[in-house]
Amino acid sequence: MSMNDYREVTGEEESKDAPQNDKAVTDVSGHAETSAASSEPADSDQEYEDTCYICRRPEHVAGKMIHIPNKISICQDCMQKTFDSMNGSGFSMDDMMNMNIGRMPNISMINLSDLQGTLPNSQRLKKKKPKEKTEPVIDIKKVPAPHKIKAALDDYVIGQEHAKKVMSVAVYNHYKRVASDQQDGVEIEKSNMLMIGPTGCGKTYLVKTLAKLLDVPLAITDATSLTEAGYIGDDIESVVSKLLAAADNDVERAEHGIIFIDEIDKIAKKRNTNQRDVSGESVQQGMLKLLEGAEIEVPVGASSKNAMVPMTMVNTKNILFICGGAFPDLEEIIRERLNKTASIGFNAKLKDEHDKDENLLSQVTVEDVRKFGMIPEFLGRMPVMFTLEALTEDALVRILREPKNAILKQYEKLLAMDEVQLLFDDEALRVIAQKAKEKKVGARALRAVIEEFMLDIMYEIPKDDNIGTVTITKEYVEKKGSPLITMRGSARIGCGAV
Ligand code: ADP
Repeated sequence: MSMNDYREVTGEEESKDAPQNDKAVTDVSGHAETSAASSEPADSDQEYEDTCYICRRPEHVAGKMIHIPNKISICQDCMQKTFDSMNGSGFSMDDMMNMNIGRMPNISMINLSDLQGTLPNSQRLKKKKPKEKTEPVIDIKKVPAPHKIKAALDDYVIGQEHAKKVMSVAVYNHYKRVASDQQDGVEIEKSNMLMIGPTGCGKTYLVKTLAKLLDVPLAITDATSLTEAGYIGDDIESVVSKLLAAADNDVERAEHGIIFIDEIDKIAKKRNTNQRDVSGESVQQGMLKLLEGAEIEVPVGASSKNAMVPMTMVNTKNILFICGGAFPDLEEIIRERLNKTASIGFNAKLKDEHDKDENLLSQVTVEDVRKFGMIPEFLGRMPVMFTLEALTEDALVRILREPKNAILKQYEKLLAMDEVQLLFDDEALRVIAQKAKEKKVGARALRAVIEEFMLDIMYEIPKDDNIGTVTITKEYVEKKGSPLITMRGSARIGCGAV
């Protein structure tokens, strides 16, 4: 039986239900969004796509939705299936008409073929205008040139000149690639990056700063929690759903975002294992298609797929993947290789020449990383590989003082609110840097070292309204003396109380 047989009935029902349907259309939203947005004004529903109540596919995947009261939307496929199954059950539409079911509240017979363009405008959702037409997400004219990206990074990230230069060029090329058309058959390769550097040297900080400067969504994830799909832990595709969340569920914005996978060295191939390597090599294998570019089905607003979560497709072709890791023991591999070549032939040098080489990491090759346990297919999809240096004492002193949101600036601002000027002796800064360096966790230790002695200052100084200036001295940082306190309008004194 065809739906057309019920054209008249449908028309009648539609007109009867018109006011009700109108209401439904204005507040319609998908099931998942409905619960989330129930406290929000009806207008905000319009920003989100409808999701089929039955199959959970969003409108751009499932096609035009049919809206029924109670904020329920159903895609045409599911609606058709429902009718088909009614037909197949031997329960005819005539039966329904005779039983007057067609006139039951909230049930209306809809002619699917009539839906194509014949619905009154009041029953249609305003479609989100595709952004390309109005304002492209990535406008190649607006992506700053590499030297400008680097200059902006310089304001925040101290040192790491090489890393900043490589990243600026890679990011510039990446977004040029996104904007380029491929009609001439020249397809620019993706510039996914692999950063190698000791902990606390600014890997995450660089990526965060970059994403902020470019105004693109960023998802940061830890490779340690990733496992092969089906095992306990996050499956690999969850990183894309994190990015979608960071882009406020805007698929188009997410598709131009950056995914940073930290601790990538933790998914190196496990050596000497005879169990299935679900969190190592398999994760690398699983990441391959993601890195290359694939259509991934991701849950919207949740990190795992289940029947109640709407799904959407995200294409990872233009997502920039940056992986970072400390790669402990990689230096050993490099040293071994260098010593091996050094001890052969006429150019043989001292065997232990590289033993004390501090910049060993910068001589890394793809082969070394492969030896470490990363599979060649994975490395092949990370064409930009570079290293970051361990931060020197000088760099740590600069990090204390120079970046736009430097730690010292933060403390100065806090005390300035109490109208107290905070000063640091140069020697004091050097001692702080030395202490931080001993902890071997890079710039991350700076805050801990400062917190240690600033606690007393922050506690004692607000007690006395007469204090004008506090100078942190080397002796105070070394716990051998006290800071210099100057009272308002008087000479400097040493303060034993603090
Ligand atoms: P990791 O390399 O382990 O990812 P992070 O990037 O998380 O280290 O660095 C920790 C913190 O140290 C950052 O939040 C940042 O404040 C500071 N930091 C690290 N390196 C630098 C740097 N080169 N310049 C400025 N600050 C830095």
